[in-house]
Amino acid sequence: MRVAIYPGSFDPIHNGHTDIAMRAASLFDKLIVAIYAVPQKSLLFQIEERVALARAILESCSNIEVMPYTGLTVDLARRCGAQTLVRGLRVISDFEREYQMALMNQQLSSSVETICLMTRYEYAFVSASLVKEVFEAGGDVSGMVHPLALRALHARRQPAGCGRSAASDEL
Ligand code: ADP
Repeated sequence: MRVAIYPGSFDPIHNGHTDIAMRAASLFDKLIVAIYAVPQKSLLFQIEERVALARAILESCSNIEVMPYTGLTVDLARRCGAQTLVRGLRVISDFEREYQMALMNQQLSSSVETICLMTRYEYAFVSASLVKEVFEAGGDVSGMVHPLALRALHARRQPAGCGRSAASDEL
């Protein structure tokens, strides 16, 4: 059975992520969307919320499983019997980071391969951090996230006038 892992922070899952997950799921018998609980970036959603959102949005795809994790991705791969890590590439700066991570993972485990799928043109500019920033500044992100993620963003929105930075107000 060909099992792959698509790891990330998914804070929140957006349409670029969903597209990569669906396309990867068509290449493998099973795709595990693995949500890293404690990434080194500031988070809007708790791990339970990120997992629940991804599960709800990806539930139509029967060979996708969503799970939280901590620790090394290669250790998760070993535990799950996965041979492949899937990553998405948007721009050249993604490549540098993905290349570095792929080589590091190669050092950590020679039995796990990394493959990168190119983003679709329409999602090339979409990142979770930009979605959150634009949303907080009052922008329309409905074309970039699933309606459930949009609802979660609305539920999390701070009262008007609180917590907006001057930079966000300029967007
Ligand atoms: P983000 O960069 O949106 O915060 P993550 O850190 O959760 O997302 O990234 C998980 C994986 O998804 C990474 O491989 C990242 O390059 C990929 N990814 C993120 N956004 C997109 C997108 N718009 N198109 C394709 N891949 C993406």
